[in-house]
Order: sequence, then C-alpha cells, then structure tokens
Amino acid sequence: MLGWDQATYMPPGGAVARARQGALLSRLAHEKFTDPALGELLDELQPYADGLPRDCHDARLVRVARRDFEKAVKVPADFVARWSAHSSASYDAWTKARPADDFATMRPLLERSLEFSRQYAGFFAPYEHIADPLIDGPDEGMTTAKVQSLFAELRSALVPIVRAIVAQPLIDDSCLQGSFPEAPQMAFSLAVIKRVGYDLGRGRLDKTHHPFCTKFAAGDVRITTRVRENNIAEALFSSLHEAGHALYEQGVDVAFEGTPLNSGASAGVHESQSRLWENVVGRSRGFWEHFYPLLRDTFPDHFKVVPLEAFYRAINKVARSLIRTDADEVTYNLHIMMRFDLELALLEGRLAVKDLPEAWRARFEADFGIAPPDDRDGCLQDVHWYAGSVGGGFQGYTIGNIQAAQFHAAALSAHPEITAQMARGEFGTLHAWLREHLYRHGRKFTPDELVERATGGPMRIAPYVAYLRTKYSEIYRLPRVSQRLV
Ligand code: ZN
Repeated sequence: MLGWDQATYMPPGGAVARARQGALLSRLAHEKFTDPALGELLDELQPYADGLPRDCHDARLVRVARRDFEKAVKVPADFVARWSAHSSASYDAWTKARPADDFATMRPLLERSLEFSRQYAGFFAPYEHIADPLIDGPDEGMTTAKVQSLFAELRSALVPIVRAIVAQPLIDDSCLQGSFPEAPQMAFSLAVIKRVGYDLGRGRLDKTHHPFCTKFAAGDVRITTRVRENNIAEALFSSLHEAGHALYEQGVDVAFEGTPLNSGASAGVHESQSRLWENVVGRSRGFWEHFYPLLRDTFPDHFKVVPLEAFYRAINKVARSLIRTDADEVTYNLHIMMRFDLELALLEGRLAVKDLPEAWRARFEADFGIAPPDDRDGCLQDVHWYAGSVGGGFQGYTIGNIQAAQFHAAALSAHPEITAQMARGEFGTLHAWLREHLYRHGRKFTPDELVERATGGPMRIAPYVAYLRTKYSEIYRLPRVSQRLV
C-alpha cells in the first residue's frame, strides 16, 4: 500500500521517508518469512502433502510455500532491505531524470542496481546463466536458454511480417490526436473496464507515471493509468491493459485469500491477460463496433467526422516507433527482445552501464532502422531497470503475447460465439472461460501446467503468429503475406 501511495498521491517530499519505510517493511516481512520455524512447519507438512492427491489445494499450497521459502532463505534480510531502499531512491530519481533526459544522474544508480541484481543471482549459484535466477522468480520454469530459443523462433516469424507491413503506406492515425480533457477520458476508460468485467466494488482507477495493478486482497485490486490530453489512446489502452491484470487477480479463488496461492501464476501468464484484454479484445473490430458510439458521445466534436473503420485502422497502425509502451502488437516484441539481450549483456559484464545509451542506440537502429534522438526515449524510457532488478523483468511481456493468443484461440474453439458477443458489448462468456481455466487457480499450477490444462498443449508461437498474420493481412491488405509465410 505504501508503494501504491508513492506512485499515486504521495507528495514528492515524502520520497526519502518512504524509501526508509519500504526498506523496514521489506526487511520485517523477509525476516518473518525466512524464520526457521516456518521451514520446520513446512518439513512437518511435507508427508501430509505427499499423501494428498497431486492436484488438491493443500498439496499445491505446500509446494508453492516451499518454493517461496527456499528462494527467500537464500537471500539475507539485510540485502533485501538495502536493495529495497536503493530501488525506492532510484525510482524517485528516475521520475525526474527521465523527463530531463538525464542519464548521467541515473548511471551510478543503475550501476548499483546491476550490482544488486548480480549479487542476488549469486545467492542461487550454481546456475547455468546469471540471469536464470532473476527469470525463474517471475517466470517459473523459464531459463535464459529457453527464452532465447523462444525469441529466436518468434523473431524469424515476425521479421517478414514487419517487412511486408512497413513496405505498405503508413496508416493515418491522426484521428487519435486532438484535445481530450482528462476527466471525460478517465470516465470513458472507467466505463470500458467496468463493462469488460472489472469489479469497481473491489477496485479503483487512479493516475500514475507508469501504470500498474496491485492487489491487497481479493476485495481490493487497484489499477492505475496515465493520461495524455493530446492523445486518446494512452489512458484508454493503459487502463484496459491494467484491467486485464486486475480481472485475473479479482478472479482468483477466494479460498486462497491470505495464502501464497492468492495471485497470478507468473509474470508471463499475467501479461497474457493484460495483453489479451488490451489487444486481442480491445483492438478488435467487434469491440469498437460496440464502444465507438460511446466514444463519439464522449468526444462528439472530434469523432463525429471519423468513421469507425478509420479509428480501427488507427489503433492498429504498425510503425517503427521509439517507445515500447506505445508500440503496436507486431513490433512490440522486437522492443522486448532488444531489452532482453541488453540486460543479458549487462549481467554477463559484456556491456558497461556507461556504454548503455550508445549500445541502445546502435541496437535500436539495427532493429528498427531509426535512432532515438535522446536517452529519454531511449534507455531511460522504462522504469524496470531503475526500480528493480536488471534482468527478469521483460521476457514476461513477450511470453504474455504468445500465451494471450493461445488462450484466446482455446476459448474461441470452445465458444465460437465469443466474437459476435463482443460486438454486442458482452464479455461474459470469454471472462467466464478465463476465470474457469486460468484465474481461479491463482498460483496453484505452474505456468506450464496452466497452459497445458487450458489449451491442451505446451506454449507455442503458432496461434500468435496466425493471429498476427490474419489480422494484419486484412488491415494492410496483404493477400500474399499469409501464403508466402506459411
Ligand atoms: Zn502488464
């Protein structure tokens, strides 16, 4: 709650004290959680858990509690407190340094973050790759090698699609620009997320620098968004994205309240839900057949002259752009792959923090054909490295994109009526399928098990690549793309 407050309403003067408070609480929580008495209780429970059916709640609760405990006891409480205090101070500095394009201020802070990340990984030695412990925390079961091979496979499917699209005339998305006062933007976002199923009796929407979702309890799952008064897309899609995270958390079985099972399964699975609602649903034609009249009513002067089709094409414009969070569905993963490779280079010691801005520019130019004019829209743009670990924070987004398409395809094959319902503003069937197959399980199953149970097979890129090809061949009128790339 202190973190939520810091990111929403706390006055800037509170930063120093808040860093101290966060560090103290992190230390106390860590000490409690690593108490040897807890380890003894887990040992005592193990024979009981071993005697239970493999999939029952208690057996899984013991498994997850043990995994968390065994990870936590490897990390000294003092280290946790120092890292937390550093992250809080670094985040505060980043909120000022990014708008000022001031990498020089962030450089020593990032060097310390990198050192903390390397030390953290060191507690889990031996490992195959120094990033493995950082990845296995948020994305259980994944390793550097697995992510690298998944990314390589996806990259070879994506690059021809990107090339085919950027050879076409650029879509005109000027209808998204204009003057959109904050209050009606927030009201419209709220109406949309409520309609898709976000329960405002158990949640709320506030403003922040970097949108996020946080859960205090089953009855209190909050999200934040960011508003640009000159662009309609920012608040809307950030809100939908975070509402996707929140639908997941609000859907966890209440029986798990107060236990380690009471949250999503992994960063990747979590991201599959934010991106499913933001992109697969929120950027679909059917979705806007329902919501566009409401958007027109909210901003009549602006949208009355914009046909639905023009708006639909604008929100699905594919372009080589500087900012990850503004990137379209097709190029988005290239942003992630680049960050993933750079953080591996930092962790392995192949890249020094002082050389990061230049390495960023060079890689960006190689992948996107454009160079960021400054660090603000280059290596300073994401909060991750400046408020947490270097490593482990990015792979989940692309895993999420892949899984979002796979889950959505499974839901559609069970309920083909979902598409038509969406155009009527009905999201109940899709929401119920996701709740049944994903949300209610919380952390009970591993990410691999969840994907297997919900879709009948392991994670694979085919549904995602098929989704992109179908959608963007139609938008960009690329009749030969699908044939050539099969
Ligand atoms: Zn997210």
